[in-house]
Amino acid sequence: MSVMKNVDNQYDYDLFVIGVGSGGVRAARMSANYGARVATAEDKFMGGTCVNVGCVPKKLMVYASHFSEDYENAEGFGWQKSRPKFHWPTFLENKNTEIKRLNGIYQGLLDNAGVTHFDGRARIVDAHHISINNKVVSTEKILIATGGWPTVPVFPGSEHVITSNEAFFLKDLPKRTLIVGGGYIAVEFAGIFAGLGAETHLSYRGPLFLRNFDQDIREIVAEELAKKHIDLRFNSNVASIEKNEDGCFHVKFKEGDELEVDVVMYATGRAPAVDDIGLENVNVKLRKNGAIIVDDAFRTSEPSIFALGDVTDKIQLTPVAIKEAMAFAQTQFLDQPHRMDYDDIATAVFCQPNIGTVGLTEAEARDQYGDIDIYRSKFRAMKHTLSGSDELSMMEIIVDRASDKVIGVHMVGAEAGEIIQGIAIAIKAGATKAVFDATVGIHPTSAEEFVTMRDPVSV
Ligand code: NDP
Repeated sequence: MSVMKNVDNQYDYDLFVIGVGSGGVRAARMSANYGARVATAEDKFMGGTCVNVGCVPKKLMVYASHFSEDYENAEGFGWQKSRPKFHWPTFLENKNTEIKRLNGIYQGLLDNAGVTHFDGRARIVDAHHISINNKVVSTEKILIATGGWPTVPVFPGSEHVITSNEAFFLKDLPKRTLIVGGGYIAVEFAGIFAGLGAETHLSYRGPLFLRNFDQDIREIVAEELAKKHIDLRFNSNVASIEKNEDGCFHVKFKEGDELEVDVVMYATGRAPAVDDIGLENVNVKLRKNGAIIVDDAFRTSEPSIFALGDVTDKIQLTPVAIKEAMAFAQTQFLDQPHRMDYDDIATAVFCQPNIGTVGLTEAEARDQYGDIDIYRSKFRAMKHTLSGSDELSMMEIIVDRASDKVIGVHMVGAEAGEIIQGIAIAIKAGATKAVFDATVGIHPTSAEEFVTMRDPVSV
């Protein structure tokens, strides 16, 4: 497709994209497909966080870790005990091979779209120039898609901690781990390490983790993680970490307790990656936390410079960056102005059991709508009648009483992400509770609960 207009050939490129993560690659190849002359630059990983140190290897680790439970559950179905041993180096090698394959696919996507890729650090020289590998190139537009980077607070011994970046490449599987934080990454890695057999502690500064999630979700996830022998320490704050002579770490908490572990992993959020990309040379305004401020067309305060994805810190999710990138490319190079719709974005947390969620939490719904009905079902999935596992699933539907519109759906349970992805389409289409009720269930599944809940819980 070659539909771009206003090509200004005084520049080497029409678009220079800094960062080839999920957002950058999609913006680059779509823009190139629409006829733009595009270059990209990256000095770390082809495919960015998601492919290299995020969603993809994390999900592979979740799969790896869940086998321990699967083997246990199989016994109730007649499979005799003969559990194979987990071999971390094999997993690492296979995981790294898969990531390399994906790196190649991403490179191929850029090549096939005719994008010129530079391996190296790009720095903005001025509103239309980029320096890269001792060379300066000119470009009509610049897109910053540099993503984010884990942040760790500074305290005595903070130099000893790792982040998710390093957790994907540990040489040995730790026997004892402490994870600090109470967001997506903390609960996902707690499940991973515990499932792989490590003694796992999670320290969170507040009274209950997953702060912005529905209260019922937060409570049931805490119960389920505790059942899996994860030591949950709420209202807990690390004071210091010392490295012992044997290489393990002595952690002292402000509350007075102490721990010995092999690895301390901090999952205390990610900051926009804006350092050392030459922003001091242009008029790009940042929020207090470093996030690049953009308008609804992703334009920064410097008219030729745009930004999208985690570096703008709107919603740090791969599919959001990808959708933003599509909207950007269509607006700039297809002459089809397109705005990103941030409403009702579904998300999953791959803790064990998974969380899937779309729309408003109960607290948000009460705040925004006042009169709401809550439908809730908490049950042991059919599989666990024989497996013997006491894992519970929970499903919740939140309905605006006045319009009957479903305004929030939440789930904790096996494959919650897969199930909520389908529900999210109904929510996006504005489905009412009557539409859910008119839908015939699929039996026997857990998901059928979503169309069979009839009586609101009294709240
Ligand atoms: P989150 O922002 O989700 O959570 C950060 C956690 O760290 C919060 O519990 C926060 O506490 C706590 N925290 C922050 N600062 C400190 C501090 N100084 N000391 C102690 N605790 C602190 O960040 P993550 O790092 O878990 O993940 C980053 C983002 O990546 C997520 O927001 C998500 O958008 C994305 N992601 C998505 C995944 C998915 O889709 N499945 C998986 C992994 C990441 P408090 O709540 O009190 O502020």
